[in-house]
Amino acid sequence: MSREAAPAKFWTKILKKLGIYLHTPFCARKCAYCDFYSLSGNNELYEKYTAALCERVAFYGVRLSRPADTLYLGGGTPSLLGGERIGRIVSTAKQYFDLQNAEITLEANPADNLGCTLKIAALSGVNRLSLGVQSAIQSELKSLSRRHNNSDVIRTVSEARAAGIENISCDLMIGIPGQTVSSLCESLDFILSLNPEHISVYILKIEPETPFGRTKSELLNLPNDDTTADLYLKTCEVLNMKGFIHYEISNFAKEGYSSKHNLKYWNCEEYLGLGPASHSFLGGKRTYYERSIDEFFNGDNPLFESEGGTSEEYIMLRLRLLDGLDFCDYKSVFGEEFTNEKISIAKKYEKMGLMTVTQSGISLTERGFLVSNSIISALM
Ligand code: SF4
Repeated sequence: MSREAAPAKFWTKILKKLGIYLHTPFCARKCAYCDFYSLSGNNELYEKYTAALCERVAFYGVRLSRPADTLYLGGGTPSLLGGERIGRIVSTAKQYFDLQNAEITLEANPADNLGCTLKIAALSGVNRLSLGVQSAIQSELKSLSRRHNNSDVIRTVSEARAAGIENISCDLMIGIPGQTVSSLCESLDFILSLNPEHISVYILKIEPETPFGRTKSELLNLPNDDTTADLYLKTCEVLNMKGFIHYEISNFAKEGYSSKHNLKYWNCEEYLGLGPASHSFLGGKRTYYERSIDEFFNGDNPLFESEGGTSEEYIMLRLRLLDGLDFCDYKSVFGEEFTNEKISIAKKYEKMGLMTVTQSGISLTERGFLVSNSIISALM
């Protein structure tokens, strides 16, 4: 089979239920490091946006006529919309995409009093909460310009549990200005005390068009690369010890709690993204909406980004996962062997302790995850 024909064959082999991502482009205040598309809003705008989003969900529901088994309300800060609007969005998605036994995630900012919002959201079907904790050290939260403190996090987790949400994920950030291994351990202890089912760990990346990006690096007091590597490996050590499975570069979960929605991205399965700055992978094509709420209100269509499902993309995404890339799966998808040349490259990294190579496949080690970009580039 020719390589050119591979993408179409690839995505048609994985016609599973869809994942739906709905973006809410509002935040109460912009965090100093954040490059996501979000604006400040008010009730009038939240209402207008909810109506536009529901309309678009209905439009694609009819057009695609396919069931979904994950719904992810991300942002921005979707919890700002309040329970009633979140309920309306979830009900519309259920009406058009079935969502039987689906994983339905809501991202939330613990700074806001969410008791009522979470109760209504849970009644509408939200069963997973993703909470932006980031750190338990007040000075670190301040440097990130986060609005919450530890009491807010404790309150929100207990409100979510009381509402019946039994799957809670906490975000933790590493590489924060001034962060040390000792302050990281304090944050890890705090997060573990909340007993979450899932923890996402992100290394702070300085994006040029952010307040951090516009600040001279010597003024930011960022941990250097070696310290950041130590912070990452310490996080892996602590979370592995506590029984979390490191199933993806940035994600740890208790048994059975891996994010079903995010796994669709890494497994190259299809998903529909709606809202400004959201991305879709459908019918072998990757598309995206512009970073503009006005364009979205105007009803503009998503733009073509690239063909998806190539062998390069498959290698890149599979190597993000603990399970790595299986040679038989690769052959069944692309109709050709994973080349000996690539296996020889992987063996070189294995000698450095960065990869594992077996008869059946290749995967990155935790140290390999730290330099995954270079290894994946070399393999491709
Ligand atoms: S709350 Fe989240 S999405 Fe909003 S600015 Fe902060 S990091 Fe970005």
